[in-house]
Amino acid sequence: MSSSHTLDNIFSNNRRWAEDVQRDHPDFFPRLEKQQSPEYLWIGCADSRVSANEIMGLLPGEVFVHRNVANVVVHTDFNCLSVLQYAIDVLQVKHVIVTGHYGCGGVRAALENRSMGLIDNWLRNIKDVYFKHENLVTHLSADESAELLCEINVREQVGNVCHTTILQDAWKRGQTVTVHGLIYSLHDGILNDLDVNVSGMQDIPSIYRMYSDTEMLARLPSQRRRLKPGVAQDAQQQ
Ligand SMILES: [Zn+2]
Repeated sequence: MSSSHTLDNIFSNNRRWAEDVQRDHPDFFPRLEKQQSPEYLWIGCADSRVSANEIMGLLPGEVFVHRNVANVVVHTDFNCLSVLQYAIDVLQVKHVIVTGHYGCGGVRAALENRSMGLIDNWLRNIKDVYFKHENLVTHLSADESAELLCEINVREQVGNVCHTTILQDAWKRGQTVTVHGLIYSLHDGILNDLDVNVSGMQDIPSIYRMYSDTEMLARLPSQRRRLKPGVAQDAQQQ
């Protein structure tokens, strides 16, 4: 059977990688086997070119990862919510990093009027983001509008993370965890900060808050974000 019909190359790569790690860091696997204690939860796109560990230069054990098409956080998605809850409550990550990327096929597909099957329903979430911020992108070229929508989508998903009971319960009990929005460029491999950093309930719109101000033990200093999550910069300035 030719190698194109088997996973031979993957197994040989794996053996080589495991041998290299064992040679260079003999305590790596014994330490990792005992526990993982990542500081980061990465919520990113399933795109094969956007690999969390490699982009951030982190080793196995250093980042907990959830990926789906176009890095969407949906409040009824038990997969994403379960990852988020486990990362926050059990692993006690310090940072939730929502990362989009320019040239996202999911975002581009959402801007088109064609059917690709079941995934159309998933991409509806991106169409909702577009429809909400249509005034920001309609005057742009198709390419510019797709690129801006990639950024706006990250801001919206940061908002969705912050609006969950998971984050708000964590903040209420005084846990230090910040939600960030980043965008990655396939063109040059650079990760850019969208300056959306939310570390407390005071930073989210009141309608989404699960607790009143008096219920909140806002005892931890927060890193104030410059932009509200879920709101594009231009819209905020209007
Ligand atoms: Zn993508």
